[in-house]
Amino acid sequence: MLFWKKRTAENQQQYIQQALKDNVNFSTDTSLGYPASKLDPKVFSTEAPFLKDAPLLQVFVNNPNNIGCHTCGTSEKAFKGTQEIEVDVLNMIAVDIFKAPPGGFDGYIAPGGTEANIQALWMYRNYFINEYNAKAQEIAIVASEDTHYSIAKGANLLMLEWLKIPVDENNRSIDENVLEGIILEARSRGKKYFITVANMGTTMFGSVDDPDTYSSIYDRHSIVYRLHIDGAYGGFVYPFSNPDSRINFNNPNISSVTIDAHKMLQAPYGTGIFICRKGLIQNTLTKEAEYVEGMDLTLCGSRPGVNAVAVWMILSTYGPHGWFEKISVLQMRTSWFCKVLQEKGIPYFREPYMNIVTINAAFVTDEIAARFDLVPQKHDPSNLWYKVVVMDHVEIEHLTALLNTLNTVTVLL
Ligand SMILES: *Cc1c(COP(=O)(O)O)cnc(C)c1O
Repeated sequence: MLFWKKRTAENQQQYIQQALKDNVNFSTDTSLGYPASKLDPKVFSTEAPFLKDAPLLQVFVNNPNNIGCHTCGTSEKAFKGTQEIEVDVLNMIAVDIFKAPPGGFDGYIAPGGTEANIQALWMYRNYFINEYNAKAQEIAIVASEDTHYSIAKGANLLMLEWLKIPVDENNRSIDENVLEGIILEARSRGKKYFITVANMGTTMFGSVDDPDTYSSIYDRHSIVYRLHIDGAYGGFVYPFSNPDSRINFNNPNISSVTIDAHKMLQAPYGTGIFICRKGLIQNTLTKEAEYVEGMDLTLCGSRPGVNAVAVWMILSTYGPHGWFEKISVLQMRTSWFCKVLQEKGIPYFREPYMNIVTINAAFVTDEIAARFDLVPQKHDPSNLWYKVVVMDHVEIEHLTALLNTLNTVTVLL
């Protein structure tokens, strides 16, 4: 670990207070030019005594704006402190978790996984236009049918065709021959550039695509492509549960990744993470963003500096070993749940390194689904699956209560 280490609460507090000192202080500094200030003090007190021991809330009321991208070029001077915390936390994630070479990546804390995914699609579309003189209709998005709907949103916004790759109903994996057929058919229709999204944990099943399935087909046919990993859900799970994971920047075919901190990491909403290899993010430069010091290479514009601090605090509190331990406990709980399902003869899907279990809907009544708040794959009668996500708050007692109701197997057969 080059960047990620465990820190005490006192150490975190000092570090964060220093960052606030490095930012503009709207209470004491003369700052006339920004359409920005701290939170309205008539409504949100900056002086409340409990703020003293609550560094995250201090940053929250100071309300820094981490607008722009801080891994390259210059940035707004006014929020230098919280920008540095952002770079620090991106280093922990990109270098220590996803094996990017130090200094070899760009990225930012996006408002969520949706934006991070759209940022990736936007970046690659422009990359193909800028570097290959591609026309929009020559570019396609490739991703499985289990892919999150943010890819459909991005395809719609960017007016790109999405080649939706079917998966096996039971093991949720892509058939290489079917994939090859779809790619070659698209090529015969004039598609030349393929923006590919491989999932590291789909939202519904937790299934993980093998990125090599894609790259081997592209390489075999000398097809130009770029590969993005959607780890919005699995980004803080899979690299820890599977020590042999190759879904990271050690794989030269992978050039970007999305990770959500507001899912498994339990950070406040508004904390998606976008990371890409150096040399790519310039493709989303908006030249018209002249009033922003440095460059705006992001989709969103203004964004809260406090979110970077929240992610930094969570990772610094656990440290790498603490986080590994937490994921290991969730894995054990998930495995136990699957073992009992198996003993009961209830069919389910589980990706071995993930903490989502998707149960065959034939074994779950509407009443059970409602009582336990199980999420269906589809909100209509054609639904075939219900999922259980083994989060921190989902304990053995809850799982036992559910398992005790799932005793209908002999009745149904
Ligand atoms: C949740 C999720 C997203 C979208 O993330 P938001 O943070 O809700 O915008 C994208 N991809 C996957 C796999 C997800 O689970």
